[in-house]
Amino acid sequence: MVDFIDRTYSVATQPTVCMHCEDPVAPCAQVCPVMAILITPEGVVQQADASRCIACRNCVYACPFGVPKIDLSARLMKKCNLCYDRTSQGLQPWCAQACPTDALWYGTFEQFATERQGKAIRQTQFGTQEVRTRVYHVLPTWTKGLEVAEPNVTENTVEAVQDQEEPWIV
Ligand code: SF4
Ligand code: SF4
Repeated sequence: MVDFIDRTYSVATQPTVCMHCEDPVAPCAQVCPVMAILITPEGVVQQADASRCIACRNCVYACPFGVPKIDLSARLMKKCNLCYDRTSQGLQPWCAQACPTDALWYGTFEQFATERQGKAIRQTQFGTQEVRTRVYHVLPTWTKGLEVAEPNVTENTVEAVQDQEEPWIV
């Protein structure tokens, strides 16, 4: 899925690619009450099966990366499925194919090690829980890892937000 960052001010977009979680096995699929999210033998986490999905949003809340989106009119969860119709045939997913700067890149880890720079990591730390994914993040070599810390919200923070002159929800 491609999200517009702020359509009012910019045409900039942000692809929200599925990370294809491996451990714990696809949290989205684990919480789906109707087994609408299937995982291929290669580990690709598929988008919801339209004949099963009941748009309950469980997967939206369970995904640590904010990937699944609910299409209300279709009553269906939609998400990146690694362009499985292409990648299962040896082609690149469209995002990597179209990216002019190779910021999104598709290949094996061995290819990455010989052709690319940076530190490829597949573990993301969320507080005390670690999630291992089949898709890698590429970070500067000096970084230790990727950690998503809990926001440090205090009473002062809340007051500071309330005191803002500009509305922060428009
Ligand atoms: S929204 Fe659809 S795919 Fe997601 S958990 Fe509910 S039924 Fe499953
Ligand atoms: S990133 Fe989110 S949508 Fe993708 S497999 Fe993990 S939990 Fe599911």
